[in-house]
Amino acid sequence: MSDTKYAQQGMTFRQSVEHMVDHAIEIMGLDEGIGNAMKVCQSVVQVSFPVEINGKAEIFTGWRATHSDHRLPSKGGIRFAPIVDQDEVEALAALMTYKCAIVDVPFGGSKGGLVIDPRQYERHQLEAITRRFARELILKGYLSPAQNVPAPDMGTGPREMGWMVDTYRQMFPNDINYMGALTGKPVEHGGVRGRNEATGRGVQYALRELFRHPEELERCGLSGSLAGKRVIVQGLGNVGYHAAHFLETEDDCLITAIIERDGAVVNADGLDVSAVREHIAETGGVKGFAGGEYREDGTAVLEMACDILIPAALEGVITADNAERIQASLIAEAANGPVTFAADKILQERGVEILPDAYCNAGGVVVSYFEWIRNLNHVRFGRLERRFHEARGEQIIAAIEDASGVEVPEHLRQKLARGADEFDLVRSGLDDSMRLALQSIIAVRRDNPKIHDYRMAAYAIAIEKVARHYRDIGF
Ligand code: NAD
Repeated sequence: MSDTKYAQQGMTFRQSVEHMVDHAIEIMGLDEGIGNAMKVCQSVVQVSFPVEINGKAEIFTGWRATHSDHRLPSKGGIRFAPIVDQDEVEALAALMTYKCAIVDVPFGGSKGGLVIDPRQYERHQLEAITRRFARELILKGYLSPAQNVPAPDMGTGPREMGWMVDTYRQMFPNDINYMGALTGKPVEHGGVRGRNEATGRGVQYALRELFRHPEELERCGLSGSLAGKRVIVQGLGNVGYHAAHFLETEDDCLITAIIERDGAVVNADGLDVSAVREHIAETGGVKGFAGGEYREDGTAVLEMACDILIPAALEGVITADNAERIQASLIAEAANGPVTFAADKILQERGVEILPDAYCNAGGVVVSYFEWIRNLNHVRFGRLERRFHEARGEQIIAAIEDASGVEVPEHLRQKLARGADEFDLVRSGLDDSMRLALQSIIAVRRDNPKIHDYRMAAYAIAIEKVARHYRDIGF
């Protein structure tokens, strides 16, 4: 059993996800056979390999699990973390299946993990370890553009994806689609603009969509716009930083606390998120940040009053032990599995609303899907049509000016005569995916009297889509 908060609660992460899915299956009255087929993790591989570190062979162990290949490729991140195990990887792979279905991404679900604390290794050592892990996964059939496409997760980023895709390219130089073997790559090496920020950006888009539905906000005891809302963020990594930064700078939220490994910084007037990020990069933690008050006990800060709590670090941080004390009106699950099954029940009884991980952090896989399409198309989004649309815009402006005799103001001219570039298209596609998915979740919750929360509504959508596939095509 894993050594995580989940295990301390007597239930593993995978069991917690299974309980939630069981509940959704029961609500939907799904055929038992299909339900069982859906829950099982189809395959998992464990690899152990030596890498020479400072003249000595060190053994590394990792896993990649495919929960479902009802659609191919199966998709899901690879995490590098000191505490990762098969149970966690299987739970995360299952979440990927549901996540893809919820946001209409035609992929199966997969996930990988390597037991390592990346901060303990030099860059060249990490490169050797990452390349060797990729090689093992490729040789076992768990990494290819057609079947299984990893992406970044905790402890990995574009750099690691770049090393992995290069390893694949070296092993399969004749595969013209080799770029599609990994997503989340650096833009200069086949990545798509907007992927790095995508998960955090998706969290922002999810909240924006929720705030377009006053009746839903009422359930959370909230009203008005995002401006001025007090937000607490746990984990200022890739997901947490982008979510917090965009909410602060574009929606005028007040980021009143940021919780990191070494404690938290608190400022009721709002923190400068980029400045906190720079401070962490320079010093390794939030302690000593001048723009806020330091608190050593980060977990206690999770329980402070706020409008929106965004756990964006680890799983199992809100448990039966602290759920009663959470004061947030709304929890946006940017991390995977931050709320345990038991805590979820307590929070529901207390009327705390949760935007579930399987929806809320799906922005990453949505943009990974765009990146994969771009790689198979071998052309940047917008390359063919951007100048055409600019010329068309100029023609429309000329026609308006001719007909009206009035000159179109410069700021409007610039907007009208601008062709969309890759960034614009990716953001717009992400926004559309997040909006449509939440609208469906809201509709399912509204129309099904047995469903009382967003998580069950999201699972109901996912399960119905996967079940339909099994019913129509077979197992
Ligand atoms: P990351 O490694 O970039 O960031 C994690 C952050 O959490 C780091 O800043 C780290 O210092 C902090 N942290 C670690 N332990 C902590 C603790 N005990 N208390 C407070 N902070 C702590 O990882 P990430 O990619 O941002 O992923 C974060 C979460 O989001 C994970 O659950 C991951 O599965 C999920 N997620 C990530 C993506 C993605 O695209 N990267 C997509 C979907 C879901």
